[in-house]
Amino acid sequence: MTAPPDLKLLDGFERALINERLHYAYQPKISLATGKLKRVEALVRWHDPEMGAVPPSRFIPLAEGHGLIDQLTRYGLDRCFTQWKEWRAKGIECELAFNISAMNLNALDFPDIVEAKCEEHGVPAECLVLELTEGSTQSLVNLMDTLTRFRIKGIGLAIDDFGTGYSTMKLVRQLPFTEVKIDRFFISDATRSMDSRVIVEAMIGLAHGLGLSATCEGVETREQIQLLRAMECDVAQGYGVSKPLLAEDLPGWIEQWEAGWDE
Ligand code: C2E
Ligand code: CA
Ligand code: CA
Ligand code: CA
Repeated sequence: MTAPPDLKLLDGFERALINERLHYAYQPKISLATGKLKRVEALVRWHDPEMGAVPPSRFIPLAEGHGLIDQLTRYGLDRCFTQWKEWRAKGIECELAFNISAMNLNALDFPDIVEAKCEEHGVPAECLVLELTEGSTQSLVNLMDTLTRFRIKGIGLAIDDFGTGYSTMKLVRQLPFTEVKIDRFFISDATRSMDSRVIVEAMIGLAHGLGLSATCEGVETREQIQLLRAMECDVAQGYGVSKPLLAEDLPGWIEQWEAGWDE
């Protein structure tokens, strides 16, 4: 008898996690003021020998639903911090953005765990930004408490997929975020549609008005990069800058990208 598909997926994921066969791709984010690499976002990857590449959109919810998300997050932090140190040893200076699940915030000691890992690996808290998507079931008071603990430690906090959530305005006003990541939905037709352009510009202005940095994700073309520069967006990320890269391909990408950037 063959196992039902979800159980097979869960079983495969659990084994990949335990056997440390999950890895990370790193997508560059550039400063639009200088054109230089500012940060990389770590994106988890799972390649199953039988099923092939399984996208995070399939296995993250599974990990969340089966009590495996804390283990995945801790594993990922160790992997990515180790990678960060390797780059640093080669003279590459960049910050690291790491996606966390809202469920990670249910563990009260989560901020202390992250801080301990920073210390263990020698990653300055200022070099770490946690990306959080709205969708937490926690009360605003609890979220406030946990997120404030991260801020006190110097760790950055980005609200991901900004503009798509149900109560993002409330969250961004009341919680101690340092950055908004404007969802790629708005960027995708900003070069074609006046309406989208107005919305993107307003969201950048909103971020700045609240003292936050603005990142646009899903930036796919040169034209979009130019538009976002003109709008004084701080950071751009997307296939137009780079696809998510294997760790060893980052140094070569930096060289190529910086040579091709004209002021
Ligand atoms: P996200 O955090 O919004 O990540 C951006 C997604 O958009 C990534 O998909 C990335 O590969 C893709 N992307 C980047 N640039 C472009 C572009 O120009 N055009 C288009 N069409 N797509 C672009 P990916 O890697 O499949 O990740 C999907 C989601 O899974 C992420 O969305 C994030 O919410 C979640 N995720 C990924 N890695 C982790 C992780 O380590 N932990 C947790 N908790 N969630 C993760
Ligand atoms: Ca993200
Ligand atoms: Ca996003
Ligand atoms: Ca997303």
